[in-house]
Amino acid sequence: MSDIANLAPAYIRSIAPYQPGKPISDLARDKGLDPSQIVKLASNENPLGVSPNAHMAMMDALDDIARYPDGNSVLLRDAVCEKFNVTPAQLVFGNGSNDILELSARAFLAPGDEAVYSQHAFAVYSLVTQAVGATGIIVPAKQFGHDLDAMLKAITPKTRMVFVANPNNPTGTLIGKLELKKFLSAVPKHVLIMLDEAYDEYLTDELKAESIGWLGEFDNLVISRTFSKAYGLAGLRVGFGVTSKEIADLMNRVRQPFNVNSIAQAAAVASLADDEFVERTRALNQAGMVQITQGLQRLGLSFIPSFANFVSFKVNDAPRVYERLLNQGVIVRPIANYEMPDYLRVSIGLFSENARFLEVLATAINA
Ligand SMILES: *Cc1c(COP(=O)(O)O)cnc(C)c1O
Repeated sequence: MSDIANLAPAYIRSIAPYQPGKPISDLARDKGLDPSQIVKLASNENPLGVSPNAHMAMMDALDDIARYPDGNSVLLRDAVCEKFNVTPAQLVFGNGSNDILELSARAFLAPGDEAVYSQHAFAVYSLVTQAVGATGIIVPAKQFGHDLDAMLKAITPKTRMVFVANPNNPTGTLIGKLELKKFLSAVPKHVLIMLDEAYDEYLTDELKAESIGWLGEFDNLVISRTFSKAYGLAGLRVGFGVTSKEIADLMNRVRQPFNVNSIAQAAAVASLADDEFVERTRALNQAGMVQITQGLQRLGLSFIPSFANFVSFKVNDAPRVYERLLNQGVIVRPIANYEMPDYLRVSIGLFSENARFLEVLATAINA
């Protein structure tokens, strides 16, 4: 009976499961807390919810829920093309941008191939690499960020992909646009570059790389974007990749025909039309980042300066502080699985949520 697990290849058996943020309903049940009193700052979700436009579009889309979704996401494709000035054949839509990461690995990695990524980089890069039997090459980070020179040196004739998160999760570090472009130019053409920009909307205009504008120069580049963060659609699962039409074609071949549901497509189209909501999200995040980092400083805690909608900070005995926060109804994210056992990651919430987190943290670190 115990042999049944051996039916799976060794590379599947060695995958460490993804550890998501604790859901509010779990904590409410575990500790007998009122769910409405729980503050969840654990999964980098948008504290403002969704754009009212998207909410209306979702309600309308429900009327047609008995039908299959449009497998080509045509309305969403047109909306993305218009917004980002790309052509329809350059796009791949995903069930969240995690799906885009997975499709790229399925299309480009085979057992024996290597994929390069940074220490402390988003956990899904190693998951999708291992799931197809390829070998992940982890390059030591430099001050918690990607060491691009070392990543270049790690590329061998066996390398087929390199993953870059900008900004990165869970460190919040950002690669400057000039440095990033220099890296893209130096990556050999036998390597696909997956540039994950899940938090791009949180950057100020001066900091944005505008990397979609570089696609004409790099036909081995895929940029992934998501509706889960600044657009507030994490529960719907929708994201996209933008790349050369040759790469998009290959990724679309391994894509499930109906991977993006109809409500998600409708909501994403409506979200793209609401710049004001994204701007409000960015402004709230900027103010909340100041509130939280100043609060951490007052508590004498060090943190990694972040360009996204979360910040990772250092505490003595992170597992104990995490538990104490949970006991008080505040959920943050332990990141020991990112080789950062002394850190916790907190997402930026509403002013009142941030204040509650800081208040509870003050007692959690001192008891
Ligand atoms: C949250 C996140 C994503 C987005 O995941 P979805 O599948 O789109 O919800 C992608 N990359 C990074 C680095 C993230 O932190």
